[in-house]
Amino acid sequence: MLGQMMDHPLLISDLLTFSAQYHGDTEIVTRTVEGPIHRYDYRSAARRSRQLAQALARLGIEVGDRVATMAWNTHRHFELYFGVSGMGAVCHTLNPRLFADQLTYIVNHAGDKAVFVDLTFVPLLEKLADQLQGVEHWVVMTDGEHMPDTSLPNALCYEDLVEAEDGNYDWPSFDENTASSLCYTSGTTGHPKGVLYSHRSTVLHSYAACMVDTLRLSARDSVLPVVPMFHANAWGLPYASPLVGAKQVLPGPGLDAPSLVELFEQEEVTTTAGVPTIWLGLLQHLRDTGKSLGTVRRVVIGGSAAPRSMIAEFQERHRVQVVHAWGMTETSPLGTVGTLKSKHEGLSEDARLDLQAKQGRAVAGVQLRIVSDDGAEQVQDGEAFGELEVKGPWVVGRYFRTEGEALRDGWFPTGDVATIDHDGFMQITDRAKDVIKSGGEWISSIDLENEVVAHPRVAEAAVIGIHHPKWDERPLLVVVAKPDDPPTAEELREFLQDKIAKWWMPDDIVFVDELPHTATGKISKKDLRVRFENYELPTA
Ligand code: ADP
Repeated sequence: MLGQMMDHPLLISDLLTFSAQYHGDTEIVTRTVEGPIHRYDYRSAARRSRQLAQALARLGIEVGDRVATMAWNTHRHFELYFGVSGMGAVCHTLNPRLFADQLTYIVNHAGDKAVFVDLTFVPLLEKLADQLQGVEHWVVMTDGEHMPDTSLPNALCYEDLVEAEDGNYDWPSFDENTASSLCYTSGTTGHPKGVLYSHRSTVLHSYAACMVDTLRLSARDSVLPVVPMFHANAWGLPYASPLVGAKQVLPGPGLDAPSLVELFEQEEVTTTAGVPTIWLGLLQHLRDTGKSLGTVRRVVIGGSAAPRSMIAEFQERHRVQVVHAWGMTETSPLGTVGTLKSKHEGLSEDARLDLQAKQGRAVAGVQLRIVSDDGAEQVQDGEAFGELEVKGPWVVGRYFRTEGEALRDGWFPTGDVATIDHDGFMQITDRAKDVIKSGGEWISSIDLENEVVAHPRVAEAAVIGIHHPKWDERPLLVVVAKPDDPPTAEELREFLQDKIAKWWMPDDIVFVDELPHTATGKISKKDLRVRFENYELPTA
């Protein structure tokens, strides 16, 4: 027997229609690529998104066509999120930090029919355009005054396109399982893989993102996503914010600490989100200038492990609550969030920080389990570890245009190694391929790195396994020291001594000026391993 409730599909356009109607005068503020601050409200954003949908139809974009964007977090990019998906086409966000041949592969594999590009990235795409034969339209996301002289074939101007339409447009209704957007993972091995989200998965993920135990978004918030809209949909914030009518503050290309702090102050930001690398720079800036975080109440940290010391600095020095989150492009991306339960209220500061350094509990809707190499499910006691597997309505089922499912026994294998404790708090010990296998035991590179970056004179650190004739692998610690008063290797060893098991002590410590990072701001262990390929440990 079927239920008899109204048959109303979950559609992305409804999120925007709702905010336009009930939060019509709530602001969306952008630091534009051209420079000045742009402000308007949900009512205007909804109208312009409808105008954009009309313009896309006029260009011949049809339901299911892929429309790519290469853009910062701006109001125009926000309009594309809704205009493209709302009309039934697929919004494909391109990460400009990928290598040229990866981008070429991705655009061709996706079959993008149009590309919308910010001024910043026009030169990048000009170099690739003749290899991107399927692209029929190039649109520069600016106004007539700033339109560049470009070799992109028949380049159109975004503002001209939008302004030519009247906005008298009704969003179409269709099956909620229709594809809405597409995002490729950076693919540390092999080609990048496309994750094709649906309207249904996106809307459900948005509801989950707003919940109090998730990101706690409401109409009283002013949200600044530092995480780019080209990386896992800015963790869903551009969809979740209109759902609750939160003000949005979009930083454009200004991701440096002074620009962010200026927006935090001027726009009374309450919630912000980004990867640890961004916060490293921000915290340093706050230390140097003595500035505060003003009205910011919550900092969401994800993408890589949030070091315990970073969580402590935000909370103790700046009185800002850290929300540690884990996810992947494949999980839309929110999988777990580290909000505490009432039973944790009495915990000591130290014990609370230990718990917050874990990646958190499953977001309602997501199921988690850990399995051993032979696929056996492990107990969730906080000690046993295994590969993390996930399930849920916003988890990938198969990759775009590839054969076969992405699943194993109906679960998505994440490639992360984790523990899960009795309260459901998951802790990533490593990427499966980064774990250090020493004499049959595993050393968690993440745990070691966390201990090292807690040293006050260390800026960044990475630990990789180096071949060892006796132990198979042993840890090498690679450190970027803070400029003024760098610690010695001996001092670091002393610092670590009472914090880690004896056999975890790195066999060698190397100081470098800079660590390699991936296109999504993580330390690239892959590049680091290549760099230290022939490294011989003194203990070997
Ligand atoms: P990529 O950066 O490779 O494009 P994702 O952004 O989807 O892809 O990366 C997902 C991976 O990032 C996870 O599988 C996990 O290894 C890592 N990750 C994400 N959040 C955290 C976190 N809070 N702590 C540790 N690792 C994390």
